[in-house]
Amino acid sequence: MGNIIELNEGKYLYMVDQNRIINSNIKDIFLANAETLTIPIMDLEISETMLMEKVRVLPMATLEVTQECNLRCKYCIYNESYEYFRPFTSHKMTWETAKQAIDYVYSLVEHRKEKKFDVGFYGGEPLLNVPVIRKAVEYSKTKFKEWDLTFSMTSNLTALDIKTAKYLIANGFHLNVSLDGNKENHDAKRVFVNGKGTHDTVLKNLKSIKGIDEEYFQKKVTFTGVYSFDLPLIEVRHFFDKNEIVKGQSVRINNVNKLKTDYYEKYPWDIKQKESEFQQLDEDIFKKLSHNEELTPLETHFNITSFLEVESHILRTFTTAAQTCLYDSRIFIDATGNLHICERINNNFAIGNIEKGLNFTKMAALLKSFTDLIKRECRNCEVRFLCTRCFSSFAGDGEFEIPPGFCEGKKRSIVKGLEKLIKYQEEGILK
Ligand code: SF4
Ligand code: SF4
Repeated sequence: MGNIIELNEGKYLYMVDQNRIINSNIKDIFLANAETLTIPIMDLEISETMLMEKVRVLPMATLEVTQECNLRCKYCIYNESYEYFRPFTSHKMTWETAKQAIDYVYSLVEHRKEKKFDVGFYGGEPLLNVPVIRKAVEYSKTKFKEWDLTFSMTSNLTALDIKTAKYLIANGFHLNVSLDGNKENHDAKRVFVNGKGTHDTVLKNLKSIKGIDEEYFQKKVTFTGVYSFDLPLIEVRHFFDKNEIVKGQSVRINNVNKLKTDYYEKYPWDIKQKESEFQQLDEDIFKKLSHNEELTPLETHFNITSFLEVESHILRTFTTAAQTCLYDSRIFIDATGNLHICERINNNFAIGNIEKGLNFTKMAALLKSFTDLIKRECRNCEVRFLCTRCFSSFAGDGEFEIPPGFCEGKKRSIVKGLEKLIKYQEEGILK
């Protein structure tokens, strides 16, 4: 591929060093001026003092109110298939820890101008520790008095009772429910400890919430599914597009986490078949957009992730921090009071605790080791401007590392995204 990637059978070229797409007719003219258009790689150097400023803008903090979970999903990062994550435990966050966490987070952000903050609840399964959630909510309201304070929760929704549902509604919780789609797909992987599928319970509880307050449901309930490549995609689409309870609600689908796992050795899949399923989805979306038809939330999600992410990085400058946050987009407090960059990263990257606070020396060192990796591995990569990667993508056993297969997958999907972008522009769907 070199410094030019041929696209759409050579009709277009992606000029790597300039991070732009050109028509191949103008290749020679472009190359004559290429040097002036070359986008440099900027070394990002951030001191501890700068990091102290960064955390002042944090928009949210998430409390791991329990590490206990009543499910044993087959792809869960806490099961034995994942080497870098902690195992299942039943440790619950105490009220004292939750209070101290809220106090500490408040001390980080209290002097800033923008008085807007979200307190999130996460697990394990957060609904297994409702008493601490309730206390934390009431305490946050007094602590963040006169702030625009919101609450959010990610839940498997199997342990919901009516009283708690009413409490979540009354406090306007943004409720992100884990739901993988149709019963067959969902129950193949999302199971109770006894192995029984959870779909019926989740749907029953969703129905209850909708029954209590339909407006709340429409505004505040969203879904995140995990897609496992060994299962058919079409039923997932049908479910989110057509099911009476969930259709119209915002949904995003993540793939099973591939960081150091033998998951897909247990659940093998066929690459050709998968490509054809995603191709079909692309074609259906394209057809709808060509006819000015509105996309469903699921189609919108796939449309964004398949090429609009690539588009948003075209012509952008590049720093050695790549697309990672700089500890400024969230903070995660685990059940024992340790502080982490976010809920996606494994326990080997703790950045402090609620007793001693953030360890800015460690944070600066972690950032340096991340940017060193990017400098070493990505500097000459042909998709370096377009490849989204952050701390959590490369979090290994205490060191950052690029997981096997990551680059091949990224390159494939970025080239596809670029070709799709051109097709959409040619058809006038995207200006
Ligand atoms: S997912 Fe990545 S960018 Fe987002 S908060 Fe976590 S480490 Fe930062
Ligand atoms: S594909 Fe790999 S080498 Fe290329 S930018 Fe992404 S992580 Fe770096």
